[in-house]
Amino acid sequence: MSVVIVGAGQAGLQVAASLREAGYAGSVTLVGEEADLPYQRPPLSKAYLAGKTDAAGLALRAPGFFSEHRIEHRAGIRATAVDRARREVHVEGASPLPYEHLVLATGARVRPLPVPGADLEGVHALRSLADADRLKAALADAREIAIVGAGFIGLELAAICSARGLSVTVIEAAGRPMARAVSVDTGAFFRDAQAAAGVRFRFGAGVTAVEGEGGRAVALALADGDRLAADLVLVGIGVIPNEEIAGEAGLAVGNGIHVDAFLATQDPVVSAIGDCARFPSRFADGAAIRIESVQNALDQGRCVAARIAGRPAAYDAVPWFWSDQGPHKLQIAGLPAPGDESVVRHAETGFSVFRFRDGRLTGVESVDRAADHMAARRILAQAIALTPDQAADTACDLKAVAM
Ligand code: FAD
Repeated sequence: MSVVIVGAGQAGLQVAASLREAGYAGSVTLVGEEADLPYQRPPLSKAYLAGKTDAAGLALRAPGFFSEHRIEHRAGIRATAVDRARREVHVEGASPLPYEHLVLATGARVRPLPVPGADLEGVHALRSLADADRLKAALADAREIAIVGAGFIGLELAAICSARGLSVTVIEAAGRPMARAVSVDTGAFFRDAQAAAGVRFRFGAGVTAVEGEGGRAVALALADGDRLAADLVLVGIGVIPNEEIAGEAGLAVGNGIHVDAFLATQDPVVSAIGDCARFPSRFADGAAIRIESVQNALDQGRCVAARIAGRPAAYDAVPWFWSDQGPHKLQIAGLPAPGDESVVRHAETGFSVFRFRDGRLTGVESVDRAADHMAARRILAQAIALTPDQAADTACDLKAVAM
């Protein structure tokens, strides 16, 4: 028996590790195009860029882990095609790898800014360790930073840059920050906290071009005719799932590689997990969604490993996520949608926003309220019926409700 995993990121590594934990005895090959040992991406826009950890501190496992667990890590090798008839993965510069089960864990890549000048020097995006190193070097000489996109990564970068005393402007097409992911209340809190730290915002603004001089970015042209001087442009406008290898192999794709509740594609010996997978979720009323988070990558890795090891179960983990912005920690449990009702629960430090749809709890956004977040995860996992009145009532013990 042999398993080949394409993509040595958070999800791919987890499948390999969980297979061994489950006692799987066959061969496990982990193919990754990046040269590094599998590493965590979240600190790239947090501790790593702030200089609080180094590359060794990002590693998900020590170098010895792979040989100890008989996981063949083929680093710096790109998988180019899947031959499903022959059950082989074609890779650059080496013989095809035969598989009995194939796991696609190819992640996602940054969405490029679709305007003239986006390829000028001084325009950066952040997905990989190599991107972070380029950005770190560029920040050393930068003064005026323009960040395109007020999503999680844009705001985390804004917090880091403003803490370094740089001039920061965030340009966002929507009317508020993190508009697709969080409530008006949570968005307003982070907007105000960042503004108090000196970050300027332009909401409802479109970028039409990056202007350059001598091949370097010097300004952004905005749709309303304004021009914003910038010697460093950071683009954080979302990602595109790496689904091409699956599509070319005849598997269903479109905003991710389509999988069923067990994370299998229509070919039962090919699974897809993590940022690249589109799966049906009870937290989205059964709709097929893609989730970009560490939790999702890890739990889907575990789910597929269990199935390969002979213990199949549908994927049903509660989605959760975090984002660190300056001194504040945002944690989200569940999958709130923009139209969901908001009930704010205040505390001495921080607050949580409970989101409801048709009277049913869909998610909880906690700001500096780790205990609320942990209780929310348990409440959502067990589908406990919490009412909006209970959510708002600080005398109601959430921990007891979650028991
Ligand atoms: P990835 O980690 O992207 O791994 C996929 C790997 O596959 C990559 O190494 C890629 O190079 C490789 N690959 C792709 N195609 C091929 C191929 N054909 N052949 C070989 N290799 C291939 N999530 C949170 O929950 N909280 C956070 O605070 C948070 N912060 C983040 C900050 C940043 C800067 C970034 C970039 C992400 C952050 N995330 C955060 C998201 C989280 O890191 C991702 O959801 C997670 O890494 C997804 O894991 P994955 O294994 O699916 O994909």
